[in-house]
Amino acid sequence: MTPFPLTRATALARLEAFLPDAGAAYARLRNHDRGLGGHVHVSGLSAALRRRLISEEEVTRAVLDRHGMKAEKFLSEVLWRTYWKGWLEARPAVWAGYRASLAHWQERLTQDRTLARRHAEAVEARTGIDAFDGWMTELEETGYLHNWARMQFASIWIFTLGLPWELGADLTLGRFADGDPASNTLSWRWVAGLHTPGKFYLADAVRIQDMTGGRFRPKGLATKATLPRDGFMTPDPQAPRSPLRPDPKAPSLLLLTVEDLSLETFPLPPITAIAHLPGETEADRIALDDALTRARQAFPLAQVLGPLTRATLKDAPAQIVTGFAPLGPTADRLEPLRAEAQVTEVLRDWDARTWPLCRKGFFALKEKMPALFKALEPDLLAHHG
Ligand SMILES: Cc1cc2nc3c(=O)[nH]c(=O)nc-3n(C[C@H](O)[C@H](O)[C@H](O)COP(=O)(O)OP(=O)(O)OC[C@H]3O[C@@H](n4cnc5c(N)ncnc54)[C@H](O)[C@@H]3O)c2cc1C
Repeated sequence: MTPFPLTRATALARLEAFLPDAGAAYARLRNHDRGLGGHVHVSGLSAALRRRLISEEEVTRAVLDRHGMKAEKFLSEVLWRTYWKGWLEARPAVWAGYRASLAHWQERLTQDRTLARRHAEAVEARTGIDAFDGWMTELEETGYLHNWARMQFASIWIFTLGLPWELGADLTLGRFADGDPASNTLSWRWVAGLHTPGKFYLADAVRIQDMTGGRFRPKGLATKATLPRDGFMTPDPQAPRSPLRPDPKAPSLLLLTVEDLSLETFPLPPITAIAHLPGETEADRIALDDALTRARQAFPLAQVLGPLTRATLKDAPAQIVTGFAPLGPTADRLEPLRAEAQVTEVLRDWDARTWPLCRKGFFALKEKMPALFKALEPDLLAHHG
């Protein structure tokens, strides 16, 4: 397993070590896929960012401080994460549509033997396409693929292997150490041509050979794209869910979830108890353990209740404080709890400021970059001072 930064301390150390390369070097080299052990031109921060062991804002501040807008390429990649989160949050129908369609294809897998065979060949890295099988093996071994490799992988899955994108998205959501409902689902949709009308991503054999330093020479790739018939393209955005805000004076239970694992860095109401929502993967478990350790240090008098259950809820303070849960499994798990307890959520300023700008295309957000970064300036100045 790649040593992902899955604690806050290792994420901050990784950021520090990567800073010198986040400027011109990143812009020049980021798309080269050197394979297992060779991903030195990218930050590798995604598993930590996904769980907010470290935040987009912290990464952006540090990179701006070091390079200013010479790091525009890196800064805009971080902003892609923000964009996907905000875009999906405004379109719950896309997440629900993906889940329904996935259930349909999972059912089909149990009935359609040809589909099941082709799917098994892909998942077991037996397609005979060297690049695809190589990336599948790397994914299985490490939980990571380089961004450029992810684009080729998804494209080959959809257009060459003719497999439903939803099954591919489900595979990577579960296997990526950074698996994220928004970045993952919407990137797959983007490759499949479902995000921007008329735009899809077709993998090219010569380019793959080039960008992997000749490691792969794939044969038989599709040369034209047959777009999935999805039924809907892009529903209109709706106002994002408005969370219940914590009463700042009320004694509270701090609920740790994989959506935000550095909440102790915020001003919170008096925390008298700590619980957590167990994660789904080993990476989640490591990150949650780290967050729990930090929360105990930050709130030494709080009672540690362990995993949140009906029984633990009985002894807990009435107000629960947790990080905002965007669409996805955590939000689904919190939903029934809302009827039984006062679940309040901390929405970070970064999300509150950016998500309203994520309703159209990425460039509508990107053009606001200077204004967004200007809002961070007072702290940058304080840092220098
Ligand atoms: C089919 C497909 C599926 C993907 N699934 C996920 C996923 O489940 N979770 C996830 O975090 N990213 C996903 N991505 C986006 C991207 O590939 C990863 O964020 C990136 O490869 C992580 O490596 P890094 O931290 O070294 O990135 P760096 O290049 O160092 O970038 C810095 C940070 O910016 C963000 N970022 C960079 N590129 C993108 C991008 N294209 N979209 C969104 N955010 C980006 C990530 O948080 C990343 O950590 C997917 C992309 C594709 C094409």
